[in-house]
Amino acid sequence: ASSSQQEFDYLFKLLMIGDSGVGKSTLLLSFTSENFEDLSPTIGVDFKIKHVTIGGKKLKLAIWDTAGQERFRTLTSSYYRGAQGIIMVYDVTRRETFTNLSDIWAKEIDLYSTNQDCIKMLVGNKVDKESERVVSKKEGTDFAREYGCLFLECSAKTRVNVEKCFEELVLKILETPSLLAEGSSGVKKNIFKQKPPEDASVSGCCSW
Ligand code: GDP
Repeated sequence: ASSSQQEFDYLFKLLMIGDSGVGKSTLLLSFTSENFEDLSPTIGVDFKIKHVTIGGKKLKLAIWDTAGQERFRTLTSSYYRGAQGIIMVYDVTRRETFTNLSDIWAKEIDLYSTNQDCIKMLVGNKVDKESERVVSKKEGTDFAREYGCLFLECSAKTRVNVEKCFEELVLKILETPSLLAEGSSGVKKNIFKQKPPEDASVSGCCSW
C-alpha cells in the first residue's frame, strides 16, 4: 500500500498564514521533509501531507501553504474552511510582518474561519538572525495572550522549535472535543477523489 493509504486515527487540516517572505514554505518543508507525500504537482495546490504519531494518536496532517496567494491578499474562504489549526507566522526581523498579523490576518481568520474552536499558533520565525531582531519575545507573548493563541519562536533554517510548533498545535487540537469529532469524520472522506467545484480556485479545489 502507498503511504496515502496509511491508517490513521484523525485527519486534520492545518493552515500556514502570514506575509510573503516570513518563511511559511520553508517551515512547512522543514517539518515535512521526512515521511511526507508531496501531492502538489498532481493536484495543483500547495499543500503537504504528513503522517505523524502525536499524543499516542496516528495522525494524517494536511498542511496548506498559501502558494504565494497572500501577496495579492486573495486567500478565499475555501482556504480556511474546515481547518482545525492555523499557524500564524511572522519574521522577528521585520516588524510589519508582526503588525500585519493583528491588522490583517487576525481579521481575516475571524471573518473566514468556519470553526469557532480552531486552534491558533503564533510563530515568530528566523530567530537564528538574533542580531537583526526587531520584535521581542515579550511582544509575541503579549499578542498571543491577547489573541488567545499558542506561541513559539523558531528557526526554519536551523530547525529549532520547528517540530514543536506543529506538535503543540496538534496536541491542543487533540484536547478539543469538537475538533476531534470533525477530524474523525474526515477519515471517511477521500479528499483526493473529490471532484473540484466548478469555480475551484487555486486554494479551494480540494477543500473538504
Ligand atoms: P514564505 O513566502 O512565507 O513562504 O517564505 P519562504 O519560506 O519562501 O522564505 C522566504 C525567505 O526566508 C527564503 O529566502 C528562506 O530561505 C528564508 N528563511 C525562511 N526561514 C528562515 C529562517 O528561519 N531563518 C533564516 N535566516 N532565513 C529563513
